[in-house]
Amino acid sequence: MSRKLRMGLVGGGPGAFIGPVHKMAAELDGKMELVAGAFSQSAERSRAAGVTFGIDPTRAYANYAEMFLAESKRPDGIDFVVIATPNHLHLPVTEAALAAGIAVMSDKPATATYDEVLKLQAAVAKAGLPYGLTHTYAGYSLVREARALCMGGKLGPIRKVAVEYLQGWLSRPLETTGQKQAAWRSDPAQNGPGGCIGDIGTHAFHLTEYVTGLKVTAINAQLRRVVPGRKLDDDCNALLRLEQGATGTLMASQIAAGERNRLVLRVYGENGSIEWHQEEPNTLGVKWLDGPEELRHAGGGYLGADALAVTRLPAGHPEGYIEAFAVLYREFADVLLAREAGNPAPLPETLPGIEAGVRGMRFIERTIESDRLSNWVEF
Ligand code: NAD
Repeated sequence: MSRKLRMGLVGGGPGAFIGPVHKMAAELDGKMELVAGAFSQSAERSRAAGVTFGIDPTRAYANYAEMFLAESKRPDGIDFVVIATPNHLHLPVTEAALAAGIAVMSDKPATATYDEVLKLQAAVAKAGLPYGLTHTYAGYSLVREARALCMGGKLGPIRKVAVEYLQGWLSRPLETTGQKQAAWRSDPAQNGPGGCIGDIGTHAFHLTEYVTGLKVTAINAQLRRVVPGRKLDDDCNALLRLEQGATGTLMASQIAAGERNRLVLRVYGENGSIEWHQEEPNTLGVKWLDGPEELRHAGGGYLGADALAVTRLPAGHPEGYIEAFAVLYREFADVLLAREAGNPAPLPETLPGIEAGVRGMRFIERTIESDRLSNWVEF
């Protein structure tokens, strides 16, 4: 039986959103275990988080540099580190981890800026270590089903895509109230230059390319800062051109009052179309030009192999956000274990990695440039 992989976490301190989700997801399939962390920029809060997570107190470190130094010297040191901090730390933490010989699973966006992601790409290539990127939505079984339908040719040539990612939580100047998730996301120094396009637009962009298998080749985007005083975009409407003559629209907004986490993807081919709603992730709509409409359910035995491979429960027993995250972790664990067994291999195509990170940062950079020029820009 193979051992559990040892995980370190940077971020995820008291009150953090996504760090604890990473722990739950990574541990879901019993292949990994959180053993160490630098959970906060405050040593005291990092220690407090270590107690909450129930790890050995000597492995709740004051900062990430201390963690990488200490863990790389231990025979039972961490096998990989998860990065769940504000964006400006993604590059320095990843570089430090790779330099210490530690594999990385990072949250998106890969870095704060496009220049940074090019440095990161070089660092990942040089280190030759696995680097995964948690574009969570890639882990849903019905996203895998949609992908197989699009890329396997069932829908026919893809002609049109409509993707939208709408939230309402930044409809008012929440960042001025001390709410910490809003505060760093609205600060260009910690977030990078893309506001809602960086935070959620990158997910919409990734889902589009991931499901269709087509690259976006050009964008014509309009960005707005709707809330007075806000330093970064909080609303985006964009037209897309994709490979093979397809076109599309991408909407991302955090001022869409009343919306919670409305990520919706529609893809139209010559023969039919798919429609997936993140808030109802256990069904996938499939419509045919020459046939009746279908509603496919997660866990249905009739689904394709890609969807069934990442399904844990029978139909009618809903899986959600944590399970989707856990699919990415399971694929990452398999890469690390194969490597340990002397069979190093690249990440599977289903698991986002550094290329997805570069594409996401290019999307942000191109979107800002298009808005500045009020025109189309090529990728
Ligand atoms: P958050 O503000 O809730 O948490 C950030 C954590 O990082 C905090 O605990 C903070 O103390 C810690 N931190 C800050 N500086 C640190 C340092 N120097 N060393 C160690 N820890 C430090 O933010 P969040 O909402 O959890 O977002 C974190 C990252 O995850 C962002 O990059 C965000 O884009 C991404 N994210 C991804 C998803 C997804 O669906 N994949 C969802 C939410 C957030």
